Amino acid sequence: MSDDSRGTPAPPTSSDLAYRQVLDEVGAFVYTTDLQGHYTYANRLVLDLLRPGLRLDEVIGKAFTDFVKIDEDAELRQTDIRVLRDGETIYREEANLIHATGELRTYWSIKKPLRDADGAIVGMIGISHDITDKKRLEDAVRRHKDLLDTVLDSVDALVYMKDADGLFLYANQRVAQAFGRPAEAIIGCRDADLLPPEVAARFREVDRRILATRERSVSEEAVRDATGRECHYWSVVAPCAAPDGTPAVIGFSTDITELHELKEELQRQARTDSLTGIANRRTLFVEAQAAFSRSRRHGHTLSLIAIDLDHFKQINDRYGHPTGDEVLRDFAQACLDCLRKEDLLARTGGEEFCILLPETPLAHANATAERIREVAARICPGGRDTAPVTASIGVTCMEPADASFDQMFSRADKALYAAKAQGRDCVVAL
Ligand code: GH3
Ligand code: MG
Ligand code: MG
Repeated sequence: MSDDSRGTPAPPTSSDLAYRQVLDEVGAFVYTTDLQGHYTYANRLVLDLLRPGLRLDEVIGKAFTDFVKIDEDAELRQTDIRVLRDGETIYREEANLIHATGELRTYWSIKKPLRDADGAIVGMIGISHDITDKKRLEDAVRRHKDLLDTVLDSVDALVYMKDADGLFLYANQRVAQAFGRPAEAIIGCRDADLLPPEVAARFREVDRRILATRERSVSEEAVRDATGRECHYWSVVAPCAAPDGTPAVIGFSTDITELHELKEELQRQARTDSLTGIANRRTLFVEAQAAFSRSRRHGHTLSLIAIDLDHFKQINDRYGHPTGDEVLRDFAQACLDCLRKEDLLARTGGEEFCILLPETPLAHANATAERIREVAARICPGGRDTAPVTASIGVTCMEPADASFDQMFSRADKALYAAKAQGRDCVVAL
């Protein structure tokens, strides 16, 4: 790019031509201008941008705006002034509308003052890289990340990723809520930093197994949240690769606390008599069969009391069904007051009850039955000075010949009917 002292361009030397060829191949837009912003040089890419097929000699002495119509770009002009007048080097992103195609392309531009041998600014050198595709790719990646963040933060599950050392690599907003700290504060933590030691150890074990076997794990977990509430999660944890390609695990834990509580409540209802709140017939039989086996194994005694309230039909008829219900509830409570916590009281029918007494000999069960008969007499459905509730009670104890609880149960039932036969309001032991 030689120039003679009179300002007329000298024909390019062979070394000039060699440099120009190199500059045509660098993949960047390279040009120089004088102090007025007129081109003193432009490489092939610049020439083709101005107009495809343009020659260098058609450009020399002309300005960018002679070829490309741009709207007043105050910033662009300001930039050129800062370079040409103040000698600054400017790095900036520029957007140019390509009129030929109507396409908006983005460039990363460096503008630097061009100085003569004495250091005086004589023009400007510009180098621009077309970063449109890189920018579009970055925009697409950012949009995808935003979309993924929105999805992961909107999904009603805890989503997390941990590396092979158990360090959190990712945690969504639901994880942040559960631990009561920002998601960024969870990254780099271990389960042990966030959870009680025994829970953290259990989770670590699960993660280790997943990493070793490359098989996913599906389980129900109970964890206390930041407020101390016990939460139940349905967790699916699977092996995956961390962003750096190393082995990791990704987990999705759905809060099933409400469902769990509902299940517990349904199970409780299935075990309980709804009128009195004590165990029902089914529970008695399940518990009694287990107690029977246990007592057999350990050589312990086991007693059973069977109770049927006397003339209950009459109570209903005389005072109404709601009063009858109240008597049943009062009677159940009166029985509980006579029992130890290891005894099991159950309502086995309408006005029928049973009591299972582990490690209790017959005489002791008999005494308990007598006490129950006495407390029943304190319940007067018609009010004070009316006839009290009476009960017929059968008592039995496990015998060596009994093959199962059912045999004990039918013997207690037989004793109960004997009590009825003996005139009711009494205890019979068999
Ligand atoms: P017995 O002395 O021979 O046992 O006479 P009973 O009247 O107690 O015996 P029966 O079996 O003839 O009648 C039982 C009554 O218990 C009939 C039924 O209406 C009543 N009963 C059963 N379940 C309930 C209940 O949940 N609430 C009320 N209020 N009454 C009930
Ligand atoms: Mg009955
Ligand atoms: Mg009865």
